[in-house]
Amino acid sequence: MPSKKEKDLRSLGEFGWIRRIAKDAPSHPQLETGIGDDASVLRPKAGQRWLVTTDTLVEDVHFRQATTNAEDLGWKALAVNLSDIAAMGGEPLAAFLSLSLPGGLSVAWLDSFYKGLYNGARTFNVAVAGGDTTRSPKSLVMTVTVVGQAETSRILRRDGARPGDSLWTCGDLGLSRAGLLALENGWRAPQTFLQAHRRPVPRITEGRRIARSKRSTAMLDVSDGLLGDLLHICTSSGVGALIEPARLSIPPELASFCRKHALDPVETILTGGEDYALLFTLRGAKPLAPWPKDLRPPVRIGFIVPEPGLHRLDPDGSVTPFGRIGFDHFG
Ligand code: ADP
Ligand code: MG
Repeated sequence: MPSKKEKDLRSLGEFGWIRRIAKDAPSHPQLETGIGDDASVLRPKAGQRWLVTTDTLVEDVHFRQATTNAEDLGWKALAVNLSDIAAMGGEPLAAFLSLSLPGGLSVAWLDSFYKGLYNGARTFNVAVAGGDTTRSPKSLVMTVTVVGQAETSRILRRDGARPGDSLWTCGDLGLSRAGLLALENGWRAPQTFLQAHRRPVPRITEGRRIARSKRSTAMLDVSDGLLGDLLHICTSSGVGALIEPARLSIPPELASFCRKHALDPVETILTGGEDYALLFTLRGAKPLAPWPKDLRPPVRIGFIVPEPGLHRLDPDGSVTPFGRIGFDHFG
């Protein structure tokens, strides 16, 4: 707990603050110098490339202090970046955190934010290796940057999908959206939905396993909704895709939640967003084998076709274009 003198940042001061976060910052074997110098020093691994990704959260745009638990936010700010590294087939190494803070922000709030962030960093073996702290006149702004690495030949981009490839997902879809709706509307929902929204799990080990296969051709992580993100793969690769909604695995709890609130479960899964599941393509239709038991098993949901655009293929053989992305005319 902060002492009386340290209730807000003004009283703690910039250097007091940095000392405080440096004390238990998670480290990594490849981090030679972390918080406390002008720049951090990372040791590269032979034959690997750096992967660098960054994401910004702005108060009242991406979250509200009133409705967001600081610890969850710390976890999520890191997790979304780790998910981007996972989507390239990489392994994260070090996180950097730039904070623009209103002067009156309580140290207790920041401590909780760091608790969530450090917990995530320890869980996924990532160092918190530096950052920047500045004052902001009003809103909180946080930028997390993550450096990761991958063997050069195993990096998986968005542009490699080819007609005939099968299309797969790995991770929860639709639960985060359902969790958000529950929070916004005060609906009852299973803890797993709220958890999916507040503490998404980056599929790092799964991503590495997928990228290591000689059959994988393209991958990304689903942050803006499956269909919208699938369109990124299709556009980058110059192809289209057929999705078979009958193949989507709809968890029974999601099905009953959707029934209760007049939501379409397929639409929730395909357009929900903030899932941080992996979406990828494989040459051929066979599953990746062997697939470790402790990892989330991938689900085949369709395949890649030469004609651009996204279509659904129903069990009766009918093919229908999905409406404009935005999906007011879903199906
Ligand atoms: P400089 O003035 O040389 O830019 P700073 O005073 O900004 O250095 O930062 C001092 C040290 O503290 C650096 O190692 C920097 O990476 C680290 N640091 C500053 N702010 C944060 C933060 N919000 N989270 C993690 N590390 C930070
Ligand atoms: Mg600085």
